Amino acid sequence: MSALSAARSPSPATESNPIRLRVLSLGAGVQSTTLALMAARGEIGPMPDCAIFADTGWEPKAVYEHLSWLMSPNVLPFPVDIVSGGDIRADLVAGAQGNRWASIPAFTRNVTPAGTAIPVLDEDDDGATIVVGTRILPTERVGVGMIRRQCTGDYKIVPIRRKVRELAGLTRRRSPKTPIVEQWIGISLDEALRMRPSFEAWQVNRWPLIERRMTRRDCLRWLERHDYPLPPKSACIGCPFHSDAAWRHIRDTDPEAWADAVDLDRTIRTGFRGVRGEVYLHRSAVPLGEADLTTDADRGQLDLWPNECEGMCGV
Ligand code: SF4
Repeated sequence: MSALSAARSPSPATESNPIRLRVLSLGAGVQSTTLALMAARGEIGPMPDCAIFADTGWEPKAVYEHLSWLMSPNVLPFPVDIVSGGDIRADLVAGAQGNRWASIPAFTRNVTPAGTAIPVLDEDDDGATIVVGTRILPTERVGVGMIRRQCTGDYKIVPIRRKVRELAGLTRRRSPKTPIVEQWIGISLDEALRMRPSFEAWQVNRWPLIERRMTRRDCLRWLERHDYPLPPKSACIGCPFHSDAAWRHIRDTDPEAWADAVDLDRTIRTGFRGVRGEVYLHRSAVPLGEADLTTDADRGQLDLWPNECEGMCGV
């Protein structure tokens, strides 16, 4: 069915307002849920034509339950489309077996043993780096790095973009040079740094929570005030961006998901094609089941990138 069919009732484009499709990027976390429900109640307008949820296949059960509540009759007056760029967990397992893999921001651990000869560097007269000798490493050296993240693009941005183009009738068509699609993104005021304009000339991004100067806390208050269920944190079960508090929450409230993350962490230890060293989900680069998850408070550490994949992230 064409998205521009009567069932979807898209906004008619006019000369003064060429937007013909309004899409809400739904991550099913706090911010995008608030945005969807505010739109449903007419507090933010015009009414979106639909919401899109990109399913990585590895969200906690609570997120899928919350999503199915949002999609149940009489909650949202617009449809929710679910799109997928694949099953991120299955792709990680395949990657650990040497196949093409999902590039999540996991941590690598490289050990240089004591006694290794390492080069001593200097600069020549032209400023170029040269090796001027070697020295012997007196103690073992451990380096922790992070793998470059592509998963948000592969599993969220690309499938959402594909769906939006389909809904706007742009599949296999040349893109208009001016915006005809408005995409609503659930970024709150406390995350304003993540706002990015659309890279596409045919689409414009909008952040209605920021227009209303609403923080995440304001969203929670709004949901409570209207007796809506509080959404769970929306992110892949094994997302390496989790803070220790987020890992603890999974461990203490969803043992099945925790066991799943520990198992996947073990599976990817051998590494991926093109990545040097062992791979870990926890930032300390130790097995997840043995990681010290009490460190947030001590280090004042928060999520590396809070709600990164909520809705469609602003990268
Ligand atoms: S939640 Fe984490 S692992 Fe999942 S797609 Fe987003 S950044 Fe990647």
